[in-house]
Amino acid sequence: MTDALIERFPLLKQLIALQETQWFNPNITTLAEGLPHVGLSEQDVQDAAARLRRFAPYIEHVFPETAVNQGIIESPLVTIDHMRRALQSHYQTDMPGKLLLKLDSHLPISGSIKARGGIYEVLAHAEQLALQAGLLHLEDDYRTLASDELRHFFSQHQIAVGSTGNLGLSIGIMSAKLGFRVTVHMSADAREWKKAKLRSHGVTVVEYDSDYGVAVEQGRAQAQNDPSCFFIDDENSRTLFLGYAVAGERLKAQLAQREIRVDAEHPLFVYLPCGVGGGPGGVAFGLKLAFGDHVHCLFAEPTHSPCMLLGVHTGLHDAISVQDLGIDNLTAADGLAVGRASGFVGRAMERLLDGYYTVSDETLFTLLKMLSDYEQIQLEPSAFAGMKGPVVAQRDHGYLAQHGFSDAQLSRATHLVWATGGGMVPKDEMAKYLRS
Ligand SMILES: *Cc1c(COP(=O)(O)O)cnc(C)c1O
Repeated sequence: MTDALIERFPLLKQLIALQETQWFNPNITTLAEGLPHVGLSEQDVQDAAARLRRFAPYIEHVFPETAVNQGIIESPLVTIDHMRRALQSHYQTDMPGKLLLKLDSHLPISGSIKARGGIYEVLAHAEQLALQAGLLHLEDDYRTLASDELRHFFSQHQIAVGSTGNLGLSIGIMSAKLGFRVTVHMSADAREWKKAKLRSHGVTVVEYDSDYGVAVEQGRAQAQNDPSCFFIDDENSRTLFLGYAVAGERLKAQLAQREIRVDAEHPLFVYLPCGVGGGPGGVAFGLKLAFGDHVHCLFAEPTHSPCMLLGVHTGLHDAISVQDLGIDNLTAADGLAVGRASGFVGRAMERLLDGYYTVSDETLFTLLKMLSDYEQIQLEPSAFAGMKGPVVAQRDHGYLAQHGFSDAQLSRATHLVWATGGGMVPKDEMAKYLRS
């Protein structure tokens, strides 16, 4: 199968050679045309936002660090102009417009983008169980969920998930806080400190020598054998996706507050690190709903794990893995070490994304050190996949021409790099990253 596939899709040669590669979507459509294919609506995202507002008093009560935002889990947005100039000179590429960083790395509770989708799905499941049991009503003060009665109720239920680390961290901490019995199936990529942190919260951590796909399979199998166990399916979950999508409206409010315009004359480019696809896919969906065709989303993957680019480019989606091409799926970007993309996300979003690109681990570490030097911000390697995006986009004349961007529009553009994790990396781990 491989030879014929490579013949049909010559770009695969670059992926196999582990070269940094980009592919801009020739089939992009407008939001109006693309939306029906997503299978989810603006109303679904609004329902998710409303659910998070119902839970806010509870979140603030059990996680006091969220009090600054009244129990709404949201991250800061910062301008990184020193970094913009550093990128410009490092890559010898003109970088007009603004460069912003969205610090999901500093989301409370679990320090990564998974504090959006992962926590949201646990809350949605808990709410459904408690409503069904008559122990909770929609108009209640949700702080009642912290009561012994509710915690005892949740302790009769289990939650399982497979993860490379950060999803496990979010789901484990949130589930344990509610009182659930929770098992996290961790792939070999998962960092030791993430496992230790989970165990300190009373979470059962099962470790595997293999990659993410196997960890997910094991989690799924555990749940299949036990009706009291709910499996959070990172590869297919609409609920996770909607938890991420709420970010769109929130970012819109943050940009408005800073009087940063987004319209035809002021395009917004957003660069999202992609693992299985739920996080960046959900966020991109929310962004499209918030900004329509004026937002341009690009997904970024490690050269060793380009699963989404591969799946969408070939149209095979989850029927192909990077290992099928002999690519090893070994990368320092543990949050992105996924060999097979979500078929749901690839199919839902393929009409709405501007493009996909890959970055080497070497590039990730160069950018990690640059951001630390120029902005004093420290993140984990996975969170840097987006950082080269503005350079990739700005350099590709074919892409700029495809969308008809003029120099004037580009000079008024906002480039937003989504920093997806790293706020909780221990100091000694970070020192190792900076030495790499
Ligand atoms: C999980 C993760 C991503 C990507 O999210 P997916 O839903 O797996 O695509 C990006 N960055 C970090 C740090 C992550 O943990």
